[in-house]
Amino acid sequence: MVANSKVANTQPKRLSIGIIGGGIGGVALAVALSRDSQLDVQLFEAAPQFSEIGAGVSFGPNAVKAIQRLGLEAPYQRIADSSPAPFEDVWFEWRRGSDDTYLTASLAPGVGQSSVHRADFLDAIVANLPEGIAHFGKLCIGVQQDADSATASFDDGSHFKGDVIIGFDGIKSAVRPHVLPPEQYGEITPFWSGTYAYRGMIPTRDLEAALKAKGSEKRLALVPQMYLGKDRHILTFPVKQSQLVNVVGFITDRSLPNPKLPEGEKWVQAVSQEEMLKVFAGWSPACQAILECIPEPTRWALHELPELARYQRDRVLIVGDAAHALLPHQGAGAGQALEDAYVLASLLTDEHCDRQTVGGVFAAFEQVRHARTCKVQRTSHEAGDVYEYADVGIGDDETKLIKNLETRFGWLWNHDPYHDVVAAWQYISQF
Ligand SMILES: Cc1cc2nc3c(=O)[nH]c(=O)nc-3n(C[C@H](O)[C@H](O)[C@H](O)COP(=O)(O)OP(=O)(O)OC[C@H]3O[C@@H](n4cnc5c(N)ncnc54)[C@H](O)[C@@H]3O)c2cc1C
Repeated sequence: MVANSKVANTQPKRLSIGIIGGGIGGVALAVALSRDSQLDVQLFEAAPQFSEIGAGVSFGPNAVKAIQRLGLEAPYQRIADSSPAPFEDVWFEWRRGSDDTYLTASLAPGVGQSSVHRADFLDAIVANLPEGIAHFGKLCIGVQQDADSATASFDDGSHFKGDVIIGFDGIKSAVRPHVLPPEQYGEITPFWSGTYAYRGMIPTRDLEAALKAKGSEKRLALVPQMYLGKDRHILTFPVKQSQLVNVVGFITDRSLPNPKLPEGEKWVQAVSQEEMLKVFAGWSPACQAILECIPEPTRWALHELPELARYQRDRVLIVGDAAHALLPHQGAGAGQALEDAYVLASLLTDEHCDRQTVGGVFAAFEQVRHARTCKVQRTSHEAGDVYEYADVGIGDDETKLIKNLETRFGWLWNHDPYHDVVAAWQYISQF
């Protein structure tokens, strides 16, 4: 299909689709589309193989619903962790980081904290991808289209020509400039949020012992926790069938309205434990116990995208982080990518979607997804301010903080992406 030359897709299929990017979103979309024998689906990944980092990812009820609707529930449930009894409905417990005082819990009835090890999840969905669809070492460097087709070019000199191209290629997307040409929309680049995230994984037994040694409750290891403080917070939740605890400690510089990452600094780098401990000096015994169990943390400069004016240009569409990369404070980015994948797969596998109508289908997708994904971007940024006692209306007023934490996730979680599919077809039927 793909060689070091221009390749036209000659199969007599209803639609030929090129997906750029084989992360969680791109693979989930490819799996769902590949079930329709009338579609020719090709997935292009820059890396030499599918790969995810060894960290945890947490899913809200809306993301779990998208996973079910994508037909991936069985592989997901085989590897997913949840909050232990009697805390099954707890998404996170919230505590004051200075002394571990319990503030409240955010409850997600029936789902609680549903989380997985990223690499395990990617492996689990990749297992559902038919042979021959994925192509590796395919770094997309640009996209073009004409009235009848769209073409992606790769850095090895090869091309893919199909009916449509879908950019699922993450925050640094190479497809995005085609959808939003810089001449018209200006240069769109990810910006640093001012937040660094220190990440690590701890064997659960080690963390339980460390908590006990500090006089803290052992159960803090397995029940998901958020420890809050001025310009900082720490989260923990279990992964790998509770054998490991995923930890992220955040610090935010709010001294400038538009903080800039020092010139040449890498987005992700290994740092010393000493640096991380210094950031959280004076925090509670439980927090010290957690951080002391991470000898080799990595530090991530968290970037996000501005809300984009559009996601679609005729035969080319961007989705997932390529379209709406956001801060991880509501555990929602991968969930939005999975909602995108489900809605898009439902529209493209409908027999009414073909070479002639697909541009309108993409426009309908943008119409139903844009407001929600932008709101998730906005509220994810705002959540960081709330957790770090920096929200303009809440500050360090813990009564207001508690009320916010108990209610802020309802609109995000109580969403069935099936309704987006229905709304998209209603939109299409108007034309
Ligand atoms: C610290 C942190 C914690 C997070 N925690 C959570 C969480 O708990 N819950 C949650 O829902 N989300 C979380 N997220 C967000 C989540 O990781 C992303 O939203 C999600 O991975 C986006 O998926 P994606 O498939 O759109 O993009 P990505 O996962 O970025 O995948 C993009 C893929 O495209 C490939 N690619 C890139 N450029 C090209 C190119 N030019 N050509 C070909 N291939 C290319 C990449 O190699 C990659 O495989 C977190 C993010 C961070 C930084």
